[in-house]
Amino acid sequence: MAKKVASSRSISGSEAAFARSSAVMPGGVSSPVRAFKAVGGTPIFIREAEGSQLTDVDGNQYIDYIGSYGPLIAGHANERVVAALSKQIGRGSSFGIPNEFEAQLAEKIIGALPAIEMIRFVNSGTEAAMSAIRLARAATGRDMIVKCIGCYHGHVDSMLVQAGSGALTHGSPSSPGVPESTTRNTLLVNYNNLDEARQVLEKYTGQVAAFVLEPVVGNMGVLIPKDGYLQGLRQLCTQHGALLLMDEVMTGFRVGWSGAQGRFGVRPDLVCLGKVIGGGLPVGAYGGIRKYMEMISPSGPVYQAGTLSGNPLAMTAGLSTLEILEEPGCYEALEARSEQLEAGLKKAAHDAGVPLTVNRVGSMLTPFFVASDGAPVTDYASAVACNTGRFGRFFHAMLSGGVYLPPSQFEAWFVSTAHTNEIIEETIEVASRAMQRIL
Ligand code: PLP
Repeated sequence: MAKKVASSRSISGSEAAFARSSAVMPGGVSSPVRAFKAVGGTPIFIREAEGSQLTDVDGNQYIDYIGSYGPLIAGHANERVVAALSKQIGRGSSFGIPNEFEAQLAEKIIGALPAIEMIRFVNSGTEAAMSAIRLARAATGRDMIVKCIGCYHGHVDSMLVQAGSGALTHGSPSSPGVPESTTRNTLLVNYNNLDEARQVLEKYTGQVAAFVLEPVVGNMGVLIPKDGYLQGLRQLCTQHGALLLMDEVMTGFRVGWSGAQGRFGVRPDLVCLGKVIGGGLPVGAYGGIRKYMEMISPSGPVYQAGTLSGNPLAMTAGLSTLEILEEPGCYEALEARSEQLEAGLKKAAHDAGVPLTVNRVGSMLTPFFVASDGAPVTDYASAVACNTGRFGRFFHAMLSGGVYLPPSQFEAWFVSTAHTNEIIEETIEVASRAMQRIL
């Protein structure tokens, strides 16, 4: 069947669906970025997906670079994941009683990430971050948390913080409903700035429970840690008795089998996971050094619980996804396809005279519409300086060409094992045409 895209594309079904949703759901969506606020226009509603392809409610098809914001590393409706889930669903979806899949997934994760000696499953990345922060505070007997400006750790109250009078000070709430008293213990520094990290840990010596960060950032678009940054943080945390809490919800099993911590050779004290380890079902997890994890209830006094945590469906989807990733050559193929996409985007931009910087780590990447070609994007200030209007035009040109990108300049694109050479080439052709129309 011929692919229905571009000029033949009608989105009347999505428009109707959005009107209906908007009447009963805030902004018509279940999570803000989906509403297209940053790029304008009507969100496209998806009916089904397979491999790298999405089909919307009007029958239009798109190559997908959202991948549910990371989990679908093996592609949509991967046949092995579907087979495992189909087998399990007839045997019960949740018991609220232990099942054997939990320990199987735990062992697989512990085998991949040496920093994790024990793990607790939860249902989202937000829960993972919230619980890991509680544990860090309990383990150190300290209240303060250092966070990097622009990093996202879910909608945890104490992490919804914006810089006040500058870095190195207490933040103020970035959302109504978050009390000042909750953010008073959150200190902000710039990502990739080791001096600021040192200064804040010295200024608040003996008071910081954890330095929390995305080791490779995905939530300002992709930002890459500078040489020595993560290693420097490791040393500083050890020196000041603060825990290094790596939020690998996005990067875990995404940038490599052992996550960003393996790729960059830095061992954190606590780790948050999510996305890939649930293979598209709702899962989060936090783990780390045994002596800390044994403080979690019921082994220890730090309370944390969950009705649906460790349910057999989510564990099964995660396990079968990790089994796919474990196969020889899987990450190499992801790397090669992603490199091909990066190179194609750079060439397309260069040919069209569009200044571009592409940040990529493994199969997550962001093309930034910078002011001068190749200008480094390394932190919040350099990310937000990008041309969001140009990104919006690019986004819509890609969408009408049959490529569904994350609808914001400040998100990562995700490549999956289902993105073949041909799919990447097709994407590059659409991008080459799009780049010509956005200056
Ligand atoms: N931490 C990071 C690094 C994330 O990227 C996200 C979500 O994108 C979260 C935490 C929150 O995860 P969830 O949306 O599953 O609550």
